[in-house]
Amino acid sequence: MSDMQQTAGIIALDERWGAHNYHPLPVVISEAEGAWVTDVDGRRYLDFLSGYSALNFGHRHPDLVRAAHEQIDRLTLTSRAFHNDQFGAFCAELAELTGTEMVLTMNTGAEAVESAIKVARKWAYEVKGVAFDAAEIIVATHNFHGRTTTIVSFSDDPVAHDNYGPFTPGFVTVPYGDAQAVRDAIGPNTAAVLMEPIQGEAGVVVPPAGFWADVRDACTENEVLLIADEIQSGLARTGRLFALDHEGVRADLYTLGKALGGGIIPVSAVVGRADVLGVLRPGSHGSTFGGYPVACAVGRAVVGLLATGEFQERSADLGRHLHDRLEALLGQGVAAVRGRGLWAGVDLDPLGRTGREVSMALRDEGVLCKETHERTLRIAPPLVITRDEIDHAVDALERALKV
Ligand SMILES: *Cc1c(COP(=O)(O)O)cnc(C)c1O
Repeated sequence: MSDMQQTAGIIALDERWGAHNYHPLPVVISEAEGAWVTDVDGRRYLDFLSGYSALNFGHRHPDLVRAAHEQIDRLTLTSRAFHNDQFGAFCAELAELTGTEMVLTMNTGAEAVESAIKVARKWAYEVKGVAFDAAEIIVATHNFHGRTTTIVSFSDDPVAHDNYGPFTPGFVTVPYGDAQAVRDAIGPNTAAVLMEPIQGEAGVVVPPAGFWADVRDACTENEVLLIADEIQSGLARTGRLFALDHEGVRADLYTLGKALGGGIIPVSAVVGRADVLGVLRPGSHGSTFGGYPVACAVGRAVVGLLATGEFQERSADLGRHLHDRLEALLGQGVAAVRGRGLWAGVDLDPLGRTGREVSMALRDEGVLCKETHERTLRIAPPLVITRDEIDHAVDALERALKV
């Protein structure tokens, strides 16, 4: 079999047997290390997407792989019917890292968001005194918080939302970045404001300066919980532990996922105030795998990497370089560049190539990245990437933009 036939044969299997809920680039990866991946035919590519920020520490970081191996050799699962020797330590270390009081462990990002919604509603009824079944949660236009039925109920992306009804009520949508609209939407039944500090799927959209401080004040004044979905923006992606840290703002609850599992296993969490997460009682919420020993062991190793501050610093320093290089392409196929740290949304010139075409051209140059929407590229390299590798990828992008 020739090289291309091997790739084509594997893709044909995917398409015949896998549900078609994704449209991947035609590349079949079989090995990876650090910022680089290798396909089944031995071609190497620089990863410029990091599994949508699940691979912040690169592929197979040795500390994380070691933690996973050691744990799998000892104990994998107990269920939460019994204690295990990793869970408490993970919660304590994650709380210390994030400056929070309590940790609820789950598996996927969507489950963390679902859990935060449930906790906010329960808190509204049991603590704030909102009338039963009347709690409202304020969300933003163009939000992305996952794929469950409740979460897509408040998505305004027709592809994510349509034909999945009947939908969960109790969500009020306001324009992202408009603090006055948040204030106007707050009423006696408002339990929480749930938003991404920087919107990822929307195209790495950074809200106006002062927005978050204003939303924080509005929440505090009205006894409303601020829930920051940092699943994509958090854990060093923007150059700080949390994207909200740039604003000097603290949330009441944070949802974490993606990089929390080090790109090895799905690990998510809700972290925040003990008086809010404290509304959960035995039996009122749970997950068979949430907080299982392998998740906790990998999560502890992730916390260990973040505690040094090295990844936050790399993202801040190299992010400045990445943004300088991308901004130099404005007017040469690039219409706008947004983002923070090693995270960028690049709007392509409407008269030039589409995001898919540029992603394909980049693949041919040995760089993997993916469009979000028709004409935006989302760039999120692993935080282990070097300055030279960024230059290599942006040089390739410069060529790929030329029609
Ligand atoms: C990816 C993502 C989610 C959902 O995470 P899954 O693990 O895919 O369920 C939720 N919120 C944000 C901001 C995300 O980027």
